[in-house]
Amino acid sequence: MQSDLNVDVLIVGAGAAGLTLAVDLARRGVTFRLIDGLDGPFQGSRGKGIQPRTLEVFEDLGVVDRIAAAGSLYPPQRVYGLDGGFEDTQEFSIAASTDSEPYRMPLLVPQFRTEAVLRDRIIELGGRVEYGVELVSFGDDGDAAVASIAGTDGIQTIRCRYLIGADGGRSFVRRALSVEFPGKTLGVRAIVADIEIDGLDRDVWHRFNAGDMARQISFCPLPHGDVFQLQAPIALGGEADLSVAGLQAFIDERLSMPAIRVRAVHWASAYVMNARLAEHYRVGNVFLIGDAAHIHPPTGGQGLNTSVQDAYNLGWKLAAVLAGAPPVLLDTYEEERRPVAAGMLGLAAGLLDKARHGDMRRGREVHQLDLGYRGSSLAPGMSERTNGIQPGDRMPDSVLRGAAGQPRRLYDLLAGPHWTLLVAGDAGDADVPPRAGVNVVTIDGDGQLRHDNGQLGLAKGERRLVRPDGYVGACFGPGETHAMTDYLSHVLPPYRS
Ligand SMILES: Cc1cc2nc3c(=O)[nH]c(=O)nc-3n(C[C@H](O)[C@H](O)[C@H](O)COP(=O)(O)OP(=O)(O)OC[C@H]3O[C@@H](n4cnc5c(N)ncnc54)[C@H](O)[C@@H]3O)c2cc1C
Repeated sequence: MQSDLNVDVLIVGAGAAGLTLAVDLARRGVTFRLIDGLDGPFQGSRGKGIQPRTLEVFEDLGVVDRIAAAGSLYPPQRVYGLDGGFEDTQEFSIAASTDSEPYRMPLLVPQFRTEAVLRDRIIELGGRVEYGVELVSFGDDGDAAVASIAGTDGIQTIRCRYLIGADGGRSFVRRALSVEFPGKTLGVRAIVADIEIDGLDRDVWHRFNAGDMARQISFCPLPHGDVFQLQAPIALGGEADLSVAGLQAFIDERLSMPAIRVRAVHWASAYVMNARLAEHYRVGNVFLIGDAAHIHPPTGGQGLNTSVQDAYNLGWKLAAVLAGAPPVLLDTYEEERRPVAAGMLGLAAGLLDKARHGDMRRGREVHQLDLGYRGSSLAPGMSERTNGIQPGDRMPDSVLRGAAGQPRRLYDLLAGPHWTLLVAGDAGDADVPPRAGVNVVTIDGDGQLRHDNGQLGLAKGERRLVRPDGYVGACFGPGETHAMTDYLSHVLPPYRS
């Protein structure tokens, strides 16, 4: 048995949630180990919809363009009638960028590609995933979590400040903590499979027998290759044959289209849909993120996105507390993220009901741009001064003008691990001494940047604190400097001049 390895954070599970957290911690200089029991990267396409808010998160993490290059826009859906005729429709809300919302369309990116991009980013930042390493037991002595992990080198004991259960829907960490996972099984079992086939065009998402749960089947062309993702509900009981021959027989039984021939199966799974939410996201020094904390039906493409955003909410808080911020900051992770997941469960279950009747339309509600943390203890009070933007809201992007009159995006200024203090006016209006972890940006007046259309909604002397995860923390008027200093003392390490 090897002894103490001492690391700040042990992340158990290198799915979308664990990988995102690792990227965020790596860029903040937090030491971590990221382990996964699989022998190598997961190869399935399953969570393939990346929502606009997640694209904003990925922009901040430095990967959005790579994610876009790894995917595509959603193709139109071709819905076939019983007579063999079809109609092409775009079921996803796709709109052009605006100054305040740079991404207004979900992207289609197979999950294994999203995860590959995140893994590459971790390596760039000096970290790595340890595959073939499984968490087998853990405890918590109050000051730290102590974990036993098993790999080819045998059993190691790791003492870490925080242990993160990013270990998926069947989470070992959640069970070991005896955290309840109430909810329900939704009475739907389905196949999802990545297959190579002949006989279908690759420029549309083919949907057959929509609205008939016993016969529905769809084929979505995955970008950059010749693989389709097959999705279909199946009977609740019995074996599902996921071989080439088995899936060919399955397709033949549902469709009379002999031209469709299965050539290869890259990955396939049969699963039962559930909607469940963990009673707690934190027990002592152990946290649950992603599917370990909530599972949804795949309708609406919310699972992976919610998982990424759990990690994004927790990352900056872990780093701040490790650097000396008040530990109670970590309680706001469950406070803020659990209600979001509860809302997602209702949304995804509602969309599943619509899908049972053949209605696959998706609107802005799945984009996650309107989610926020109003009412959280980190979002005190409502302000009358803020042009509709309140504490807890996602800070919209905006186009400003720089020293040479050139366009400067607000999101470029927010990107990175810091807080941002937006000040309407000149440097004197900031009214706080510089401090580590807070970038001051002055706008209009004698400030650094110009803002032509007033979307920021700040009157002269007003200040808005934007959190590292892009949500408004608080708004302060002239003279409210004590309140601002007090707010910062709850979210940052102690002030050092
Ligand atoms: C069949 C299927 C289809 C889906 N389709 C969609 C979809 O269309 N859209 C969508 O948004 N979402 C979909 N989802 C959900 C989406 O894939 C998940 O929400 C997402 O993968 C959650 O990421 P995660 O990192 O929390 O968990 P996971 O991706 O499950 O990753 C957990 C990781 O933890 C590892 N692990 C587990 N136990 C241990 C241990 N003891 N030690 C070390 N490692 C461990 C596992 O090997 C795994 O790699 C689907 C899920 C499934 C199962």
